[in-house]
Amino acid sequence: MGFRSRHAQGHRPGMSDDDNRKPLTRLAQAGRKPEWTGMPGQPGAIVSPPVWRASTILYDDVAHLRRAAGSSTHERLFYGRKGTPTAWSLADALTEMEPGAAGTMLFPSGVAAIACALMAVLKPGDKLLMVDSAYDPTRNFCTQMLNGYGIETIFYDPCDIVQLSVGLADERVRALFLESPGSLTFEVQDIPALTALARQHGVVTLADNTWATPLYFPALSHGVDISILACTKYIVGHSDVMMGSVTATDHWFGKIRQTAYLFGQMVSPDDAWLASRGLRTLGVRLKQHQDSALAIAHWLKDQPEVARVLHPALPDCPGHALWRRDFSGSTGLFSFVLNGGDDVARAALIDGLAHFGIGYSWGGFESLALPVDPARYRSATVWQAQGPTVRLHIGLEDPADLIADLDAGLARFRAVRDGG
Ligand SMILES: *Cc1c(COP(=O)(O)O)cnc(C)c1O
Repeated sequence: MGFRSRHAQGHRPGMSDDDNRKPLTRLAQAGRKPEWTGMPGQPGAIVSPPVWRASTILYDDVAHLRRAAGSSTHERLFYGRKGTPTAWSLADALTEMEPGAAGTMLFPSGVAAIACALMAVLKPGDKLLMVDSAYDPTRNFCTQMLNGYGIETIFYDPCDIVQLSVGLADERVRALFLESPGSLTFEVQDIPALTALARQHGVVTLADNTWATPLYFPALSHGVDISILACTKYIVGHSDVMMGSVTATDHWFGKIRQTAYLFGQMVSPDDAWLASRGLRTLGVRLKQHQDSALAIAHWLKDQPEVARVLHPALPDCPGHALWRRDFSGSTGLFSFVLNGGDDVARAALIDGLAHFGIGYSWGGFESLALPVDPARYRSATVWQAQGPTVRLHIGLEDPADLIADLDAGLARFRAVRDGG
């Protein structure tokens, strides 16, 4: 074995049937093939694959160049756009986190991953069923881009399986897009039932799995064909890299890979390296995000200024029973609805927070608070609430500090609401 680490075995996609390693063990070992973590003669000597920067790849002679162009470039040096071991290692690790997956393609953002996956499965004349609680830019891609290519999007209620089965009966429906829990409002979908229905109709299923990550919800083993992550959030985990990924079954991976190549999609080796570094600690980070967010969600539920807490692990969240059945954990992102008040009262709450940043995105180590208005991003359902909504991302700070901060924020909200 020489320098080669006993653990740097590199498990091939498709071997997941006889691979009974637990998810946390996979997180530590995945993507560390000896040929990616070594020097000549010392395969596997380095723990993590280093940053391999390259555009041009040099060949010995014309014959070698021709041979390379004529064979598969998957995980082989060919030209920088097809990646180097730094990105292959991250893609491989994400594949290993999804039992049943054949491979993963990486993208420069989560939205780029969603857009490419949709372009890979749809063609002019097709219809797409899109969950009404989808991430807003996902909706925009459908209505502002797919629409122009003759692909019609039909939005459906995340909680209405009857409405969805009617939609699936339309012969032109080609794809079903799921996001569970939904963006901003956190409805949990019955993914095993919905994907089984879709399969009966020959409809491909795609899921935005950014909230749970494959660690708390392995999407492919719940029936999904194509699983999408905004790696920008929990995979990177440190608010310093934009990235997306698409992980697919054997049946779909070739099409995803080909489409990504045709669009020239790739990630920089430096970003892949940072994302791989983030991935190794996903287990411990998510556990802390989960515990702190739950403590704060339960505290908020008991405050008179709060009408509702939208958190999949709380009983009054739509689909809570499905979350209990299908997910092995919850993460740091949830919303709450204020009891009365208006935009100004909500801004008084958020503006004075000392420990929460105000900004888009989430999934980093830091807490964030965002005013959200779900009614603006609904067309198949009606969003009704007792007051304005706030979305929180609970970071890795001490939850006692965050609760004290929110407590003062609710007092500012109350003063504006009642004094106004
Ligand atoms: C942030 C986010 C995305 C998009 O990811 P970017 O990397 O910001 O493009 C997609 N889906 C969900 C659920 C998100 O929260």
